[in-house]
Amino acid sequence: MAAGVTRSVRNLVPGKYRGVAVAQVDSPLDVSSLARHFRGREAYRRTRFIVARNGERTAIVRVRKQSDEPLFAPITDVELIAAADECAYLHRPDVDTGVPSALAAAALAQAPGARAVVVQGRYEHVNFIVGPAPLRVTVREVAPPQPPKLLDQARRVLQVTETLPPTELVPDVVRLADLAARRPSGRYLVPCRGSGFDPPGARTSYLDERPPREPWTLVGCERSQQIHEWFYGERPDGIDICPRTRPAIDGPLLTKCCLFEQGIVVESGQVTVPWGASLAQVGEALAALAEAWEPAWAPA
Ligand SMILES: [Zn+2]
Repeated sequence: MAAGVTRSVRNLVPGKYRGVAVAQVDSPLDVSSLARHFRGREAYRRTRFIVARNGERTAIVRVRKQSDEPLFAPITDVELIAAADECAYLHRPDVDTGVPSALAAAALAQAPGARAVVVQGRYEHVNFIVGPAPLRVTVREVAPPQPPKLLDQARRVLQVTETLPPTELVPDVVRLADLAARRPSGRYLVPCRGSGFDPPGARTSYLDERPPREPWTLVGCERSQQIHEWFYGERPDGIDICPRTRPAIDGPLLTKCCLFEQGIVVESGQVTVPWGASLAQVGEALAALAEAWEPAWAPA
């Protein structure tokens, strides 16, 4: 372990104007050698971090310059952010290194145990993460469809969002077929054909087609019960599929509810989106979770 390295750093990711330079050096990668190497050298105005490489070994330093005004200024101060024995270097042309969640995912998958991971990624851009510890968000959904919609939307948002802290999704997906199996029936009613639910050996009808009433079991949500009551004047035997009605858990939770039609709802650091949430709403929800659970995080 190198002297001068702050151990408690978590999820440090240089942001949009990340100012990360890469330098090949001949000197050893300890802090005093790096200080000797860089002090007095000119660095570009935006450079705040230098990934120093000696052969296959990599260290990361933060540098301060005499001034940030001119195009180049001499480096005055060198701080070791990650020592060579704790720093991995990955070449992953598929990873957008401006996206903290993508950096964290690559780091944990390909350099598990490394405290700092430098990624040479998409467009050959180089960025790094120190102390990858993504916020783990449980996503409660039902399937089909496959992939489950809310989980897929959240993944897609995280793939392109540069402003959220490193976030990892933990799927908690219940299959409609498993829910239905708890209440075996020869006749099921589901909200629409889009639910993709059609168990063998049973007849399945679709509520949105307003079929003639039968003694079916409704595999749906509270809203479907309400629609059924509107159509047929009564509530049927049913299995509630709404992810929001599952037993409470602690921690960051993203889920959806059939009864929510407008905006997202944040309660105790958990977020519910409307059943038909847009990508923008899912982005809002992830931002609300980050605000609740990682309020201090910001790009470095
Ligand atoms: Zn609901």
